[in-house]
Amino acid sequence: MPMIEIKGLRKRFGDLEVLKRIDLSVERGEVVVILGPSGSGKSTLLRCLNLLEPFEEGEILIEGKLIGYSVNGNGARLRNSESDNAKVREQVGMVFQSFNLFPHRTVVQNVMMGPVKVRGMAKAEADRLAGDLLEKVGLSEKADEYPARLSGGQQQRVAIARALAMEPQVMLFDEVTSALDPELVGEVLRVIRQLADEGMTMVIVTHEIHFARDVGDRVVFMDDGVIVEQGPPSQVLMEPDSPRLKLFLRRFQ
Ligand code: ADP
Ligand code: MG
Repeated sequence: MPMIEIKGLRKRFGDLEVLKRIDLSVERGEVVVILGPSGSGKSTLLRCLNLLEPFEEGEILIEGKLIGYSVNGNGARLRNSESDNAKVREQVGMVFQSFNLFPHRTVVQNVMMGPVKVRGMAKAEADRLAGDLLEKVGLSEKADEYPARLSGGQQQRVAIARALAMEPQVMLFDEVTSALDPELVGEVLRVIRQLADEGMTMVIVTHEIHFARDVGDRVVFMDDGVIVEQGPPSQVLMEPDSPRLKLFLRRFQ
């Protein structure tokens, strides 16, 4: 059974159809990298997967369990209650381009907040968990700093630790290195690579082609709301079939 199954997903913003019947399955432990031009629907797909966006048609299943579906073609609402949606968001962690850490909380407090507030974990236990996660992302010594005193790369690693603190089954990454200075990109990608090595199921939207080739089990190329081409990184990146993908890859040469 796939970890994630997306069937016939359609999403529109007003008259604009942004996702045009997307089908995508992700196996447990698989790392899927999504590439595509700006505006092709990558972020919207991740946001639907995390139930941050309602959609018009289709189904999303996590481990065979239906988590999101639309009421009908014009309802544009999820039938799920908000509390069901919140549970899904616990299972599916997401990290964005903007780190969105709480500025008036220390690093360790940022990481502890979810487990304590959402999962009802005891503070001492959450503190231990946060300590472990900060060690994992290489930031133990910054635990008591405030986010503003950290570099962008460090803040993004805190954001990853914060998502992991919910102990999700799946992690979604949406261009998490795009806002970083080039010299800070590597430290964030290393953390994601380590998660891949540990077997985390991940869907990663990125423009880092080398990273896609190294870490992706599969590359999915989206354009204009459809999956144009997908397959092993070596095939998709080295021997693209479609003219659109060939054109897209040219910019990285
Ligand atoms: P990508 O992440 O691939 O750059 P997005 O998923 O962000 O693409 O956007 C896909 C399309 O949907 C774009 O045309 C974008 O302008 C449009 N879009 C995204 N979010 C909204 C929104 N909240 N309201 C209206 N249009 C949106
Ligand atoms: Mg985007």
